[in-house]
Amino acid sequence: MIKFEKTIKHAKILNPLRNFEETVLLFEYRADPLTKRNTTVIPGMLDYVGKFLSSDQALLKSLVEKTRVNCPFCPENVKEKTPMFPREFLREGRIFVGEAVAFPNLLGHAERSVLVVLSKRHHLKLNEFTAEQFFNGFKAGAAYLEKLNAVEPEIKFPAFIFNYLPPAGSSIFHPHMQVLARDRPFYLTELLINRSEEYWRENGSSFWSDLLAVEKGKERYLFETKGVEWLVPFAPQRGLNEVHAIIRGKSNLLELDDEEWRGLGEGLVKILKFYHAQGYVSFNAVLVSGPMDRHLEYFDVNLRVISRTGIQQWNFTDAWALPYLLWDGEAVEEPERLAEKIRSFLGTSR
Ligand SMILES: [Zn+2]
Repeated sequence: MIKFEKTIKHAKILNPLRNFEETVLLFEYRADPLTKRNTTVIPGMLDYVGKFLSSDQALLKSLVEKTRVNCPFCPENVKEKTPMFPREFLREGRIFVGEAVAFPNLLGHAERSVLVVLSKRHHLKLNEFTAEQFFNGFKAGAAYLEKLNAVEPEIKFPAFIFNYLPPAGSSIFHPHMQVLARDRPFYLTELLINRSEEYWRENGSSFWSDLLAVEKGKERYLFETKGVEWLVPFAPQRGLNEVHAIIRGKSNLLELDDEEWRGLGEGLVKILKFYHAQGYVSFNAVLVSGPMDRHLEYFDVNLRVISRTGIQQWNFTDAWALPYLLWDGEAVEEPERLAEKIRSFLGTSR
């Protein structure tokens, strides 16, 4: 059974902003229903850090222009300046799907690490990404994984990751995603799989199905796109506009069909449009997959997306010591409030 556990704590201060009147601060400890990792929800924190989340548009524009010069991912350079797969792996050297181009990473993050350029345009505002771009990028990534799985089946743990713009950790402006694959699971992948298996053994049902059964239509639920379900998590991992998607009944990336890839792209576009409307320019996302060599009844492929800080003269990061080094979660507003804002922006009801 899914448990949404939370405890509310208070602190009293004499507040200098209110003539030293006594003010009560509120902290909410929430346990992730699967991993039990704590996230502290701090109402009011979003307003406090809000000024660091907007961007200096003139600075952003000048960075776009500067980075456009000699950009390896721009259409005039992509065939000259990006690596190619060895001939024995792929005779054509690169994978092309629509505007998307996939090729090996010059310096990767795993033993198999591939870059997928998503668009011919050098910079996209978050409301300019299209479902078609994501679909083509996903299909190029999936085509690579199919090929990889055929020749090196032992490299069975993939992940798709997005780092968009420098606040999200990207060294290259041009819109792209990465496909990582290795013989061992990523830490989060392993944690989610192990806990999902324990849940399955204890309850005789899938955590992911049970989660959707209790969340669908409720306060944290957002919408469905072609079988992909979108919601705000009860205890966010990073807590800055974090949204999750679940692909029902599919445990690894090789199992997804075109409808589901399209659904993922359509949902991401909606979330990025919401981020844009809130003034954000940068995001991270991960698509978490089980092993490609078998189907797991107890695990569903899932996506996590967050917005990042703004581009400003004064560099500010939200990779704070508490989440980054102490491994605890922190949410800058109540997840239910975020879900309400997204639904209201998109004009959808739950
Ligand atoms: Zn470019």
